[in-house]
Amino acid sequence: MNETAPFRVRAEIDLAALRANVRALRAHAPDAALMAVVKADAYGHGMVPCAKAAVQAGAGWIGTATPEEALALRAAGLPGRIMCWLWTPGGPWREGVEADLDMAVSALWALEEVTAAARAAGRTARVQLKADTGLGRNGCMPADWPELIAASLRAEAEGLIRVTGLWSHFACADEPGHPSIAAQLSVFREMVAFAEEQGIRPEVRHIANSPATLTVPEAHFDLVRPGIAMYGVSPSPEVGTPEDFGLRPVMTLSASLAHVKHAPAGHGVSYGHHYVTPGETTLGLVPAGYGDGVPRHASGTAPVLVDGKWRTVAGRVAMDQFVVDLGGDEPEVGTEAVLFGPGDRGEPTAEDWAQAAGTIAYEIVTRIGSRVPRVYVNERPGIGEM
Ligand SMILES: *Cc1c(COP(=O)(O)O)cnc(C)c1O
Repeated sequence: MNETAPFRVRAEIDLAALRANVRALRAHAPDAALMAVVKADAYGHGMVPCAKAAVQAGAGWIGTATPEEALALRAAGLPGRIMCWLWTPGGPWREGVEADLDMAVSALWALEEVTAAARAAGRTARVQLKADTGLGRNGCMPADWPELIAASLRAEAEGLIRVTGLWSHFACADEPGHPSIAAQLSVFREMVAFAEEQGIRPEVRHIANSPATLTVPEAHFDLVRPGIAMYGVSPSPEVGTPEDFGLRPVMTLSASLAHVKHAPAGHGVSYGHHYVTPGETTLGLVPAGYGDGVPRHASGTAPVLVDGKWRTVAGRVAMDQFVVDLGGDEPEVGTEAVLFGPGDRGEPTAEDWAQAAGTIAYEIVTRIGSRVPRVYVNERPGIGEM
């Protein structure tokens, strides 16, 4: 799909903005390497093109949640370091060893599976030990850390693994000043110090997600792992706006009006008739719905830019379409309706949609569905095509 072809709905992905965001994030953490987090199809932006663009802009590492995502990146020709952290028993450890992935381990069962895979492959596995410093999600609890460290040292001595990293993840870094941030940092320092005293020699120690990269310099250590900020979206309004940090939203979601018509006063609009025209007006049909990832919770509230004016979703978002009240204006059918974008053409942002739908901007961009074509602009050749 090219940039000018007619379209129903599309997500334009500005890779120049993504590259500039990576450079801005590197400037926020000048002494650390940068891991570009591209899990969940790069938060809906498209994993492979975004990973390539991030590497072009100086990301030394790529991070994913699942091993399948990491293996797909390797298969697409991404060189260098690729780390993944969400493993389940029976996962593709052997493929991970052979693809030279950095594989997160939070527990003994995972260490056993990765060492068995390394033995079978006849190669050393790269392992990154994850500490639960207070998130209470994945990661090894401090009480279990000595046992995991001891077992890891034995596996290293056998040449089965190399511990390439010690790492953790924040619970509340998107709430600047939250007391858990300092508490987690101090637990992290202790857990790292213990592992190093026992003889672990990690290449990288890391804990910073986007909000910590932007607002907690003492959390940068050897590497930062931004996701959402790389896509030009702020982790939370409390952290600041994208512009505050020199970031620019990468995704613009727009649709072509599929119908424009006059309607009398008192006309019910969309399922349930939750909107009734307050007077004689015109209605525009936006051909995108929750089947495309437009949140149904935005029914009646979210903004859309049509012909230079903000309009509001009138009534319910349906599976494939929703309506806006055009207040008597008569834009031509096919006119572009911009749901969200960087904001500098006057359009709403993903944050505006998040507020309308009662969620976070992460969810708005990530849930844009596979039925919406991604149109990449400002792509630069290189990486994997060489
Ligand atoms: C998703 C994720 C990140 C990136 O988080 P952002 O808030 O999007 O920057 C970093 N590390 C881990 C472990 C993650 O799961």
